[in-house]
Amino acid sequence: YALYCSKRTNRGHPLLFTKQHMVEIEQNTRIEQALLNADLNTELTVFYQPIIAIDTGKTMAFEALARWTSPVLGNVPPSDFIPVAERAGLISELTRILLKKALATASQWPDNVGLSFNLSAHDISSSKAVSLIVGTILASGVDPQRLDLELTETAMLHDFAQAKAAIEMLQLLGCGIALDDFGTGYSSLSQLHALPLTKIKIDRSFVSNLDQNPASYKIVKSLLALSSDMGLGCVVEGVETSEELAALKKLGGRLVQGYFYSPPVPASQLERFLPQTTGPARMAG
Ligand code: C2E
Ligand code: MG
Ligand code: MG
Ligand code: MG
Repeated sequence: YALYCSKRTNRGHPLLFTKQHMVEIEQNTRIEQALLNADLNTELTVFYQPIIAIDTGKTMAFEALARWTSPVLGNVPPSDFIPVAERAGLISELTRILLKKALATASQWPDNVGLSFNLSAHDISSSKAVSLIVGTILASGVDPQRLDLELTETAMLHDFAQAKAAIEMLQLLGCGIALDDFGTGYSSLSQLHALPLTKIKIDRSFVSNLDQNPASYKIVKSLLALSSDMGLGCVVEGVETSEELAALKKLGGRLVQGYFYSPPVPASQLERFLPQTTGPARMAG
């Protein structure tokens, strides 16, 4: 119970056990069983969402987002199966498969288009786990400079010294390190400052109704200023409307990702986001 519902505890005080908890435990158990029996190599796929420079409209990179179609459960969203995979000790395996697929896809893109890939806390929790990531990157032949690895505050601050060592290792290889869901965590800025980050991603909760909500507007404004003061790149997530985009432009936002441009799509549908510099083979299709 503590294991499955730990996120539902409130500052150490467990909440009452409700029917909802029971439903969640049952669901997580079903997901775990299906994951354990899954043929992950075929059931897992990767979708891609463009990260676009506002001023030129050009695609700078794609974020890889995991998709799982289970023969038993159907489509299960990553927010449901990633946490279960973490607890079931399956996340290294998932990460390896997804990263391999994403890098194989990225190797087909022009080499000025980057790939952004989400890592879990476990993926940076030991030198063995990091070696697996490094090995997968090196085996792909993709220039590590094209790769950003996205981590959340929770993942980075769980074991600060270890996370710092892992991040330094990945940066030595040439990868960028992006802090995902920025603004939603509780960590101290001084700690984050001590990590060699290259980019922050402003969480989409601050972007919805940016044009109408003065609080959101101020928060995004100060997060943009903070990233710029710290010399970091900044991607704004979850831009859905032209009004939100206009508000962001006014604030000096440069890189955006969101349904306004595109939802995450399969690798086969990326053509329209890629620069037309790949020669006759492509034009014939
Ligand atoms: P994230 O890394 O913050 O990814 C962004 C999420 O926001 C994605 O959800 C994306 O589909 C969604 N999104 C993008 N633009 C918009 C928008 O304009 N409006 C709205 N409402 N949503 C938007 P998704 O694909 O369901 O992924 C959820 C989370 O699951 C990710 O959040 C990430 O934390 C995790 N995840 C996904 N793929 C992987 C993976 O391969 N490995 C790991 N460790 N975690 C992953
Ligand atoms: Mg992400
Ligand atoms: Mg995010
Ligand atoms: Mg997230």
